[in-house]
Amino acid sequence: MPMTPMKQILDEAKAKGYGVGAYNVNNMEQIQAIMKAANQTHSPLIIQASRGALEYTNFCYLKHLMLAAVEDNPEVPVALHLDHGDTIETVKKAIEIGFTSVMIDGSLDYGHKTKSGSHAPRSFEDNIRVTREVVDYAHAYGVSVEGELGTLGGIEEDTVTDEANLTDPDQVEEFVKRTGVDALAIAIGTSHGAYKFKHEPKLALDLVNEIVKRVPKTALVMHGSSSVPKELTDAVNTCPAVELKMDKRVILFQGQEYNTSCEKDGVRLMADLLAKPNMPHTMGVPISQIQDAVKRGITKINVDTDGRLGVTATIRQVFARKPAEFDPRKYLGPARDSLAKIIAEKMVAFGTAGHIGDYKPKTLADMKAFYAVK
Ligand SMILES: [Zn+2]
Repeated sequence: MPMTPMKQILDEAKAKGYGVGAYNVNNMEQIQAIMKAANQTHSPLIIQASRGALEYTNFCYLKHLMLAAVEDNPEVPVALHLDHGDTIETVKKAIEIGFTSVMIDGSLDYGHKTKSGSHAPRSFEDNIRVTREVVDYAHAYGVSVEGELGTLGGIEEDTVTDEANLTDPDQVEEFVKRTGVDALAIAIGTSHGAYKFKHEPKLALDLVNEIVKRVPKTALVMHGSSSVPKELTDAVNTCPAVELKMDKRVILFQGQEYNTSCEKDGVRLMADLLAKPNMPHTMGVPISQIQDAVKRGITKINVDTDGRLGVTATIRQVFARKPAEFDPRKYLGPARDSLAKIIAEKMVAFGTAGHIGDYKPKTLADMKAFYAVK
């Protein structure tokens, strides 16, 4: 099966009322893990790569890894999507190497940075102009396009903005009509990166209902939707190498035993210091709020941070237990397994699971014909 156009995956999900996760990748193990999760849960899916990921993989490695993923998992409808495309040049490169979908983030001006180092928001008219140019180009190849209206706060690779501006529902209809986008990223209070919220967030979920009313046919996208679960940040922070043998007043740290003459409390204090948390307290978007957003009309859910946390936590745990380990398979393999588990759980939670055989995937040629008569 060739890679599937994202528009079809989202249209099918929208018609049946479930969400589809879009998971970011940089390397082979992440791609394998996400494909395995889709296979196990019978889920269609979107794999996405940022500009940073394209540079990291020198473009061609990502292209061939995705071709391998499709060959290895012929049953899984998978779209390959460019996350936060900044210019038409990036979009052209992505389409050239086989992406079936691109995002053009016209909400921010990537060419200029403000004094604080963040990208300034673009005007409504500028956003429309930049996005329309990409839609005209991409649709001629049958490639789907996601635009963005409103801006998210936070940091995502080289997407940095201080300002979070919720999407104005009064602008949505005009934006979709004048640009012709297939999917629209909306800002409802989520943010990029691991450090989203100090407390449980209250997203502007009513805004989703408002926006759906204005553009009922357009797939809506939630960025910055990792849940940053405490188990994962705890797993990153916990150093299991620090074991206490209280009776012998011994601390086992990274495979070595250290004797101490401290009293029990002192031993405990030293162990705590050695296992000092590295990631400060943080919260993401609870799964229950994502499920609520899907019920209200969100179809695509972008997840990056949770996968990164799972991979990092697992690698740390392996090295903490076996600091002498030097075979990359011995830590990348377990990291891949933990990522597959995290993504499979999301596929079930978002409602994607079980929809693998619902439709026959279209090709880019099919979509090219569809857009030509539109
Ligand atoms: Zn984003």
